[in-house]
Amino acid sequence: MNLESKIYVAGHRGLVGSAIVRNLQEKGYHNLVFRTSKELDLTNSNQVDSFFQEQRPDYVFLAAAKVGGIAANNDYPAEFIRDNLMIQTNVIDAAHRNRVKKLLFLGSTCIYPRLAEQPMREDSLLTGELEPTNEPYAIAKIAGIKMCQSYNRQYGTNFISIMPTNLFGPNDNFDLTSSHVLPALIRKFHEAKVSQAETVEVWGTGTPKREFLYSDDLADAAIYLMNTYNGNDLVNIGVGKDISIKELAEKVGKTVGYEGEIVFNTSKPDGTPRKLVDVSRLKSLGWEAKIPLDDGLKMAYDWFLEQTEKVRL
Ligand code: GDP
Repeated sequence: MNLESKIYVAGHRGLVGSAIVRNLQEKGYHNLVFRTSKELDLTNSNQVDSFFQEQRPDYVFLAAAKVGGIAANNDYPAEFIRDNLMIQTNVIDAAHRNRVKKLLFLGSTCIYPRLAEQPMREDSLLTGELEPTNEPYAIAKIAGIKMCQSYNRQYGTNFISIMPTNLFGPNDNFDLTSSHVLPALIRKFHEAKVSQAETVEVWGTGTPKREFLYSDDLADAAIYLMNTYNGNDLVNIGVGKDISIKELAEKVGKTVGYEGEIVFNTSKPDGTPRKLVDVSRLKSLGWEAKIPLDDGLKMAYDWFLEQTEKVRL
């Protein structure tokens, strides 16, 4: 990409898309295009076609997706598979037909088998059963990867796929019924602190392990790979370190300044026991995460506090 390139960021209001936009702007890219979902419904192929024909972007970051935590994936499986298949099919196909120079597709590490060897390497894709709580979402993402690879093979496109680990940061979803664990815990601990509650409920046993990457780091990696990596192989994006949900809850409690007790609700699902990605391919391509978890947690909590203030004003 050069600073004049026309870049379309699909999903620019979300956790990932907003971080990519911030990072592109900081780096001096100034010919950016985006549309809200009201202006452009990405599940509607006619609208997507007209948009691409009219705008003719050179580069596309496909960060638009229906995403959610363990409960939302469990409760709305049809929406997770349908919306993601539709969005990615429309955008990838329109990008090909309108001669986009390069597209970056964002997947997720839940595409790997539930019991994949840890840390999970890119070549463990399709070697075993998926985690049932998010299988429909994972199947859609796997279809997106295969679509990029197939278009590259048949049409000579340059569509790359990256698999970020669990992300957090500004514009995260803090709704307790649909969010991922980290934003949920920020909110729960904050509210417990404000109401001086004696306990905070954490779902599951607290033993599953997860890896967390701050969204600005992901954005930096995505832009780096857009500029330097051309290949059919997927690339994991992570920090290469994981922690248990119990340890995470303790860290969030400390960041928020909550001193009460943590209670585990074991009637809620644990999901996959561990999800740590192997980042050796990413490292060999010349990129490493820079933001430590404690710093990221502090920034995410500050952002949450600002939003809470805005709602009150
Ligand atoms: P996953 O990584 O796809 O399993 O999705 P989540 O981020 O939603 O959940 C990760 C782990 O955190 C699971 O073991 C959850 O049971 C656990 N967890 C603990 N408390 C919460 C909570 O308040 N919300 C969510 N979403 N998960 C929680």
